[in-house]
Amino acid sequence: MQQGKIIIFSAPSGAGKTTIVKHLLQVNPKLAFSISACTRDKRGRAEENGKDYHFITPEDFKKRIENDEFVEWEEVYEGAFYGTLKSEIERIWASGKNPILDVDVKGGLKIKQFYKDRALAIFVKPPSVEELAKRLTARATDSASSISSRVFKAEFEMKFENQFDEVIVNDNLETACAKAEKLVSAFLDDEVTVA
Ligand code: ADP
Ligand code: 5GP
Repeated sequence: MQQGKIIIFSAPSGAGKTTIVKHLLQVNPKLAFSISACTRDKRGRAEENGKDYHFITPEDFKKRIENDEFVEWEEVYEGAFYGTLKSEIERIWASGKNPILDVDVKGGLKIKQFYKDRALAIFVKPPSVEELAKRLTARATDSASSISSRVFKAEFEMKFENQFDEVIVNDNLETACAKAEKLVSAFLDDEVTVA
């Protein structure tokens, strides 16, 4: 099987990783988005099935766990399962590109452990938890209870930043995107890191 590298972006929800990942996909043609499977409801017209996520039923998700189809999966929020399908990584490698993943903090560290030097794990850090809550409210895509569970989880996730290869503070978006571009290009251009 053809193998490339993997770029992992993890952060507390609302820190800005989706925004940064979308920017990288626009400027770096070597990247392709790894579409996770998930069981939560689609956010109206803001999301598309098969583009943002493969929105599947909990029964289908369970069947895929039993068939060992995931590199990694997790119940990220109560009742909401998310996972990276092996077939997705292989599809992207077969196309000659490198998958870029937007996953939660625990999932990101699991994937890094699995792919080791083949993976670059980047933690996107919000300037503060207060700012994170403001951004989630302004994004207006989640209910109040969904926002509070995300903020609660963020307090815990912030403790893991030291376990990542790189940390990007997303205060000024332009600066954060520029740093992300630089880190990702350097990693993809470095022949030595792949065993
Ligand atoms: P995540 O994918 O980590 O949940 P998003 O990329 O969806 O986060 O960003 C959360 C919200 O914050 C979005 O509405 C986005 O436009 C906004 N945002 C992202 N970066 C910044 C920034 N540096 N300053 C202010 N708002 C931002
Ligand atoms: P959201 O519901 O806001 O799209 O995503 C919630 C969280 O799930 C985010 O932190 C997102 O990165 C994470 N997530 C998305 N896909 C995966 C995945 O395949 N595995 C894991 N562990 N988390 C994921």
